[in-house]
Amino acid sequence: MRNLYIHVPFCAGKCDYCAFYSEPAPDAALIRCWLDRILFQLEENASRLKHAETVYFGGGTPSLLPDDVLKRLFAAVREVVPNAVEISIEANPFTITPEKAVVLTSFANRVTIGIQSFDPALLEAVGRRKHTGPEPEEAVRNLREAGLRNLGIDLMYALPGETPDLWRRDLEHALELNPEHISAYSVTPEPGTPFASRIAGQPENDMLSEAMWEQAGAILGAAGLPRYEISNCARSGFESRHNSNVWHGQTYLGLGPAACSFDGTDRWTQVSDLRAWVDGAPPEVDRIPRRARLGEILMMGLRTVHGWTRQDFEDAAGCGWDDFLSQLNELAGRDLLTLTADTIMPTEHGLAFWNDIAESLVFAP
Ligand code: SF4
Repeated sequence: MRNLYIHVPFCAGKCDYCAFYSEPAPDAALIRCWLDRILFQLEENASRLKHAETVYFGGGTPSLLPDDVLKRLFAAVREVVPNAVEISIEANPFTITPEKAVVLTSFANRVTIGIQSFDPALLEAVGRRKHTGPEPEEAVRNLREAGLRNLGIDLMYALPGETPDLWRRDLEHALELNPEHISAYSVTPEPGTPFASRIAGQPENDMLSEAMWEQAGAILGAAGLPRYEISNCARSGFESRHNSNVWHGQTYLGLGPAACSFDGTDRWTQVSDLRAWVDGAPPEVDRIPRRARLGEILMMGLRTVHGWTRQDFEDAAGCGWDDFLSQLNELAGRDLLTLTADTIMPTEHGLAFWNDIAESLVFAP
């Protein structure tokens, strides 16, 4: 397994739009159960993880974990994955005290802060806890003072009531904090969430969302953080290695409830229920037929601006892309990608309409 993902399924509360699995306001006993199981599974998988090059703590809110829990977790991961070059952890600005920043940066060399918006009214519109003061700025300062050199900011756009002008202000505010990486996702009404019910029946404004996507690429690109994946922009050398590996078909082991794994052939997903997962409920295994798997690997790599070289695809998939030549030529004819004998790259239009690429490759006959 080349990459390790650990799902930390705890949050201070539940945001109205969130479809990720997390337990709001966990008590110490629940966190202890989760930790014990994770420590056990790390040991159990030690031989598979020896050569992993990235570790990613996602959630949920990993930075919500108490300091002693983080320290035990980090020590165990350090032992099992001794050669990781990138260790990322997601954090919420409300949790990053000076002390927490020291603990996080004692192991992680990349921290991404889920700010989402600097505008309290926009956060309120999607049921996310509002900043009441300079929490994002303080979080960034605490992490920098603790020595962090690779800082990411996560933003959302196309929030209810958001205009291109408000989005520009959020982007500029994020840039003032001088991050190495910015992720920007449009808010989506995930089925079953309070946010989806609230806006049910309202027309979606795809054109506004598309305009904001272009705006992000232009503003962040001009500031030295060019887009390298549909929703991700970074200074050169600060692209997420973990995510780039996963987009390019590498293997990954996911530990924790709701975590997903891929061993190059099969994909399996742990149950989205902490207590069932602690009790050893088996994961759901998805045996992907060969052709579908190749199509998936191909389409995921085309989320990135550099797409694929023939060699990289052969390394990831174990064969070339010739089976997909007719679909690839058809997509090139629609200006969604450029195709040479040795490379496939999405065009700007292809990144904006990546779903068309995905549909063509995954449902290829
Ligand atoms: S903090 Fe993140 S993971 Fe937790 S509920 Fe909000 S969006 Fe979901």
